[in-house]
Amino acid sequence: NHYSELVELDKKHFVHPTSSIKQQQEFGPAYIFTEAKGVMVKDIEGKEYIEGMSSLWNVNIGYGREELGEAAMEQIKTMSFSNAFYTFSHEPGIRLAEKLASISPGDLNHIFFTSGGSESNDTAFKLARHYWILKGEPNRKKIIARKQAYHGVATGSTSATGIKQFHTMTNSLAPDFVHTEALSVDALRDTIEAEGPSTIAAFIAEPVMGAGGLFYPPEDYFAGIRNVCDEYGILFITDEVITGFGRTGSLFCMDHYGVVPDMMTFAKGVTSGYFPLGGVMMSEKVFSVLKDKSDGPLFHGFTYSGHPVGCAVALKNLEIIEKEQLVQNAKERGEELLAGFKQIEEEFEHIADIRGKGLLAAFDLFMDRDQKTRFPEKMAPKIMDEAMKRGLICRNITYGESDTVVFSPPLVISSEEISRLLMILRESIQVVLNKIVV
Ligand code: PLP
Repeated sequence: NHYSELVELDKKHFVHPTSSIKQQQEFGPAYIFTEAKGVMVKDIEGKEYIEGMSSLWNVNIGYGREELGEAAMEQIKTMSFSNAFYTFSHEPGIRLAEKLASISPGDLNHIFFTSGGSESNDTAFKLARHYWILKGEPNRKKIIARKQAYHGVATGSTSATGIKQFHTMTNSLAPDFVHTEALSVDALRDTIEAEGPSTIAAFIAEPVMGAGGLFYPPEDYFAGIRNVCDEYGILFITDEVITGFGRTGSLFCMDHYGVVPDMMTFAKGVTSGYFPLGGVMMSEKVFSVLKDKSDGPLFHGFTYSGHPVGCAVALKNLEIIEKEQLVQNAKERGEELLAGFKQIEEEFEHIADIRGKGLLAAFDLFMDRDQKTRFPEKMAPKIMDEAMKRGLICRNITYGESDTVVFSPPLVISSEEISRLLMILRESIQVVLNKIVV
């Protein structure tokens, strides 16, 4: 039948990203999704799930918004593609750049477009180094990133990523990347001193560490980081690929911390996944050096830098985020989600470390939460399996000590849908914890 045909073809030809190829070959895909609307997705057997992760933290406005299809179709009919190299430009790119500049923190007014997060971070690293070449300090090449960071899988972004499995799979990283302890301002200072301040181009951080374990920083962390970067004259880059466009209950997560970086990378939520698009925002400080000191082309650009269809889709997506006050909804529904986690924490003694802002939230599992001892085997994947059975998609993170369950639902989620999500979650936790013989 249709289903088994797809499974066989998948096993034969479809090499899945970030997946076990061996397992894939043995069992085929566990889920084949066919339809999605709002916060719900449906699999090939017609079973429905609440998409508690917005897929890969990216479908901010939810699925199936026809306005985005119409915006794409309109642009395809008018002009399906045009590049933006050399002296060429087009209105969707111009309008989107202006829109992003108007909503970005501080003076991040100049936008370089890419097709996604990895390309954006690689671009930011190259721009940072280029900035220092133009400033007459070509030895400033090193990029300091953080242990457990995730910045993507292109060569530069893989090298900046601090999760070691992404390094060992290739065994050859780009030079001039250094890692420092996450969430410690002193560690950054020590790393700068150890490496030599005059060799460092930039420091990059996610406002909330996402894939590495969903870690929120202490409230004063980024103000401290900004000071250290300024003290040593190092560029500060934030990676808002997950946190941008309302995810944490403010338009950008750095708005919570009141700190403006020198560059900011974005992707995912800028189009809510309706089109692959990302980019780098530059401050006046960075841009003015590129403008005043360069005397030739910037030798960096992707065919799809500023794809007109992507730009048209992004503009419509941002319009919906504004019109429907989805940032505010993320904040309010996020409070309900956290309140629900707290109830679960009261009921189950193995749950702790609840954290979240807006609709980006997580908790951890412990054998003894007071002693912070972990279970001999990870519980989060089991909870995820039970949730999937009951029609809820969440994510687990199990690097190192982590035994974390994560949620990042679409920003359009309603109170009723949050309640349903929590009900399924509670049941799934109960089933898993009841099986434990301590
Ligand atoms: N940066 C962060 C913080 C991410 O979470 C991701 C992807 O999950 C990326 C960068 C890479 O983005 P992409 O997968 O679009 O290349």
